[in-house]
Amino acid sequence: MTYLANPGRYDQMTYRRCGKSGLKLPAISLGLWHNFGGVDIYENYRAIITTAFDHGITHFDLANNYGPPPGSAEENFGLLMKRDFASYRDELIISSKAGYLMWPGPYGEWGSKKYLVASLDQSLKRMGLDYVDIFYHHRPDPDTPLEETMAALDLIVRQGKALYVGLSNYQAEEADRAIKILNDLGTPCLIHQPKYSMFERWAEGGLLDVLEREGVGCIPFSPLAQGLLTNKYLHGIPADSRAAKPEGFLQENQVTPEVIEKIKQLNTIALERGQTLAQMALAWLLKDPRVTSVLIGASKVPQLLDSLACLENLSFSDDELERIITIL
Ligand code: NDP
Repeated sequence: MTYLANPGRYDQMTYRRCGKSGLKLPAISLGLWHNFGGVDIYENYRAIITTAFDHGITHFDLANNYGPPPGSAEENFGLLMKRDFASYRDELIISSKAGYLMWPGPYGEWGSKKYLVASLDQSLKRMGLDYVDIFYHHRPDPDTPLEETMAALDLIVRQGKALYVGLSNYQAEEADRAIKILNDLGTPCLIHQPKYSMFERWAEGGLLDVLEREGVGCIPFSPLAQGLLTNKYLHGIPADSRAAKPEGFLQENQVTPEVIEKIKQLNTIALERGQTLAQMALAWLLKDPRVTSVLIGASKVPQLLDSLACLENLSFSDDELERIITIL
């Protein structure tokens, strides 16, 4: 059936300015790392993406290697772009990345100009797009001069293959250097994508300050710690959860009794606030104005709707914040 977007899609979402740029992003963005690959079910991921857009999620995050198999999430997204979203292209912010292993040999990963340019060309073909809105360097490369990697990002923007560029997984000091090089080249860094959640807080140790000072946005990935920061693991590991799936990046041995104890205590506070734990975990990130958007995943439509409802309460009392920090 032809997809027609909900006419009220912009009524409930809030849009936040990305750093000091001209671009606004939805407070909640959707990532296609898991659940959109060749191993996944078309009807399910189509429903997740159309529901997201129907609720004002305009930003979809991909990477060359998302699947499995690598590349298949971009192919599947390309199919949906053609079938359902062709007339909505100008309402969408589509991102991709390169940095991790994509093809064999010395040019299939890391941060050389050779790899980044070729990888983005492949991503554009898979998605059937002329350009992506944001192109990221996915992880820092210890062996390639930062100047070469940043010059490749600058080139890609000048060629019209990406509108904006971003960094992911860069620590504070190397992000600072990269941002300065990009500024000198005339292609400012739009955004940084760190792993950041209640359970993973390294970004608070300097990175967020750098981003604020430089006017760069921040979009935390795995804000639910891959599903740990929800109520799903409270009573064991469900068979359809990421921790139970062979291709998932969350391992069963990460669901330890200590983690479960923290989840239980956090869940109590969430319930007192009238929220689910997922909603509280997302609100906890969004309370910081330096966070532009949270980049969630979802394996089912109801999860997405659960997460979206976090927007109804983003404020915390001092007492709640103190209790949360004590638990973490
Ligand atoms: P989350 O921390 O949001 O975890 C998402 C998973 O949690 C879902 O797939 C689902 O897993 C479970 N879940 C989500 N919502 C709920 C809910 N309301 N109730 C119960 N369970 C829920 O994010 P991801 O780890 O998926 O990462 C999000 C995105 O971040 C990726 O898609 C990608 O775009 C980006 N990313 C970027 C990286 C980088 O290096 N730059 C690295 C990793 C991710 P299930 O049902 O299967 O158990």
